Amino acid sequence: MEDLIKKGAKLIQESKNVLIFSGAGLSVESGIPDFRSPGGLWEKYDPSDFYYDRLLSDEKVRERYWEMSMEFYALMKDAVPHRGYLAIKNLEDMNKLLAIVTQNVDNLHQKAGNSPDKIIELHGTAFFVSCLKCGQKSTRDEVELLIKNGVKAPYCDVCSGILKPDTISFGQSMPADKLSDSFKYASECDLCIVLGSSLVVYPAASIPEKAVENGAKLVIINRDSTHIDHLAEIVIHDSLSKVLDDIIIDN
Ligand code: ZN
Repeated sequence: MEDLIKKGAKLIQESKNVLIFSGAGLSVESGIPDFRSPGGLWEKYDPSDFYYDRLLSDEKVRERYWEMSMEFYALMKDAVPHRGYLAIKNLEDMNKLLAIVTQNVDNLHQKAGNSPDKIIELHGTAFFVSCLKCGQKSTRDEVELLIKNGVKAPYCDVCSGILKPDTISFGQSMPADKLSDSFKYASECDLCIVLGSSLVVYPAASIPEKAVENGAKLVIINRDSTHIDHLAEIVIHDSLSKVLDDIIIDN
């Protein structure tokens, strides 16, 4: 393990443009469970109930969606970034951070102090809500108040359109501009670090592959192995907060 940490630290020291690719596993140590894991929310709710077209067409589905979504948000609302997140912020302070592409919707990279313009939220954010008709944006906390006051499926107060959290739902396509920006960064980075993602959700998962194709080195820190472990310089299965703290060293 010691050798892997040393090798990881050296790779970071030698790099100029690091692309961070983060997934649910990075937030587990901040108290946000991976919803796909046993006991996660997807055991209580059936995600196939919440396909985007069903959300649009059925108010009852939306009511249940908001019920699920409130539980989901409650877990991340007050979550605090762990020291691994702070190490990533440090990478930006060292002028080595090209961008963070995240599959997470929990706002923790922002809470850690990384600049919003460095963060691409591929799956959107749970912290804002938009009207699907006129685009009016509200904070999640504003809409949460409505729901706490008995509204089951909230509508826009400007145009009466359907309100939905700014997360990408099942069956909803990822925003093309965020995806193309991510691939652009993948072609520009000299080191890509995958953190807490099992790389199973496509096309997002092909971003680290793209980085390697373009000559970047790859580091994977994840609980389980991934199908591109063989492309990586090093693969570490350990506590992400500890490993990040150890390999991102000010210099
Ligand atoms: Zn509206």
